[in-house]
Amino acid sequence: MPCLPDPKDSRLRIQAEQRMSWVSRRPTPRSIVAVGPWRRVRFAVAAVVFAVTWPVPMATAGPTRDNRGSAGPPVPILMFHHVALAPDTAARRSGLWVSPTRFERHVSVLARAGYRAVTLDQVWRAWHAGGSLPLRPVVLSFDDGYPDQRRNAAPVLRARGWPGVLNLVAARLNAAGGLRRQDVLRLIGEGWEIGAHAATHHDLTRMRDARLWREVAGSRASLISQLGTPIRAFCYPYGRFSPRVRAAVLRAGFETAMTIRRGLADPSDDPLALPRLNVGARMSSRLLIRMVRTSTSRMAAAR
Ligand SMILES: [Zn+2]
Repeated sequence: MPCLPDPKDSRLRIQAEQRMSWVSRRPTPRSIVAVGPWRRVRFAVAAVVFAVTWPVPMATAGPTRDNRGSAGPPVPILMFHHVALAPDTAARRSGLWVSPTRFERHVSVLARAGYRAVTLDQVWRAWHAGGSLPLRPVVLSFDDGYPDQRRNAAPVLRARGWPGVLNLVAARLNAAGGLRRQDVLRLIGEGWEIGAHAATHHDLTRMRDARLWREVAGSRASLISQLGTPIRAFCYPYGRFSPRVRAAVLRAGFETAMTIRRGLADPSDDPLALPRLNVGARMSSRLLIRMVRTSTSRMAAAR
C-alpha cells in the first residue's frame, strides 16, 4: 500500500507541506447552572451520541490544548514503512523499504549517539503537561501495519527496551497482508503506542463530511474497541490534510497528528500537524545521524 504521494505531484506536495496556522484557544468555562442528576445523565448520553454520529463541521478549529508556555526539546520523529528487503528496484526507490540489517544498524548508531526512543504520547506530555523526556529523545514511527514491522523491527527495539509508534490502518488489522490482533497486543505490551492511520487509507481531503468522520472517528473507535488501548495519535494517509480534515481529527479526540512534512517536531508546532523525517532504503546510518543532528542544531540556532 503506497503511503507517500508522488513527489512530482506539486499540488499534493504543497498541500502535504502546508503548515497550518492556528491560534490558542482557552477551554470553555464550565456552566454553573445547577441541573438535576437525571437531566445530567440525559445530557451526557446525548453528547456521546452527538459526538459519534454528527458529521464534521466545515469550520476549522484551534489546537487541542492551550499550549502557551509549552516547552521542551525538539524531537525527531522518524518515519518507517516496510522493514524488509525491497522486492525490486522500484520498491527500493519508493522510500518505503529499509532492510532489516540496515534498520538494526540505524538503531545501534542512534543508541551509541545517546538517543533513546520514546512514544509520541510521552513527547506530547513532556511538551504540554509537565512530563519528562530523556536527554536525546527520538520517536520511531511505523506506518500502515505490515507483518514485517513485527517480524523485523519489533525484536530490534525489544532488545533495547525501546518502544515504537505503530500507525495502524484500522481495516488492515487481522486482514490479509496486515497485522494480527495478538501481534499488536504484544507490541502494546512492549510499550508501543498505537496511532490511527484512518479506517481505509484513502485521501481524506477528497471525502464528504460523513465519510471523513467515519474514517477519522471510526478508526479511533474501532482500534480502541479491538485493542483496549488509548488512541491519542493520528497519522494522515499520504500526509494529506486540510483545515477541514484537521478539524475532524481534533473533534474525534486525537491529541497529536503526524504528517509527511519534513522536519523536526517542536513544542511550538501545531500538535495536529507534526513533521517527520522519512528513512528510505538508501539512507546510511551516518546520514541518518547527520540528518537528526543537523536538524537539531538548526532548530537550536533558530531559537
Ligand atoms: Zn500510510
